[in-house]
Amino acid sequence: MATEIGFIGVGNMGGPMVSNLMEGGYAVRVYDPNKAAVDECVAKGATSATSPKDLADKVETILVCLPTPQIVQNVALGDEGIIKGGMVKTYIDLSTTGPRTSLPVADALSEAGIIALDAPVSGGVLGAVSAGLAVMVSGPHNDFGHHRPMLEKIGKNVFYVGGKIGMGQTMKLLNNLLSGTALAVTAEAVTLGIKAGLDPQLMIDIFNASSGRNTATETKFPNSVLTRKFNGGFGMGLMFKDIRLCLEEAEAEGVTMFVGNGARQAWSFALNKGSAAEDSTQIMEHYETLAEIEWPTGDA
Ligand code: NAD
Repeated sequence: MATEIGFIGVGNMGGPMVSNLMEGGYAVRVYDPNKAAVDECVAKGATSATSPKDLADKVETILVCLPTPQIVQNVALGDEGIIKGGMVKTYIDLSTTGPRTSLPVADALSEAGIIALDAPVSGGVLGAVSAGLAVMVSGPHNDFGHHRPMLEKIGKNVFYVGGKIGMGQTMKLLNNLLSGTALAVTAEAVTLGIKAGLDPQLMIDIFNASSGRNTATETKFPNSVLTRKFNGGFGMGLMFKDIRLCLEEAEAEGVTMFVGNGARQAWSFALNKGSAAEDSTQIMEHYETLAEIEWPTGDA
């Protein structure tokens, strides 16, 4: 019989991960307040629970993939939280919440006899759909070893970062500092190029054949900005949250980040001009408005 596991937060990332876990032979029971998201999982063969506690009364292992540190805290430790469940033994946090959330949550769960592992992921919705995510795990090594085969169903690159909870989270924040900075500065460069008469497609082609290439020039601009679909699948609010968490971490550790602070300002500007629900690739539109340029159409 298939091992049953629990999954909380079946949004852009969690939904495809649930599909891959089921394809990998696990029976998955899900919880999410968004009924449509739950229905989609159930249509693919999952079962559902009525609360995090209800889930934690029914399965031994629960993965969560949630949007904000506050929601992670409530889901793990709230009145109807995982901590109140009678069967759960392991909690694995795939969200990006930062070490300052994951550490106290893990401590509280541990006092209740529940082992916590950090396992934030990278690779976007495409990576989640193709089971090609990078997974950055920290926590007790033996428990990591036990759950590694399950994590390999969602990510082809599973890294063990260290024994201290929060190390995986720090690693993930550093990664997103780099990818968020790359996206913002690519939008700045393309804005200047358009103002100077350069064609956006040609600019991206040249960056990708040159030393300026990065994750924004290689995937986000070709797929979501040049097409004007703005469908990268990573929300503006989530991007700002990750850069903010990274800068807070730098401040707490006494590390100066000049470029990182610039990136934070760029994302704060985009968020204030737009909304948390926008796709993060829409930062380009806010630069266009700021520079008073029209996106070139037709022959450039
Ligand atoms: P999302 O907003 O698409 O999905 C989050 C899900 O959590 C939604 O279905 C929402 O209904 C659910 N949720 C909200 N409150 C809840 C609660 N109290 N209890 C249970 N479920 C609740 O977000 P996402 O893009 O899937 O991102 C999830 C996490 O993964 C975030 O921490 C994000 O930073 C991280 N992440 C996202 C990407 C990406 O490309 N989207 C990539 C890597 C990591």
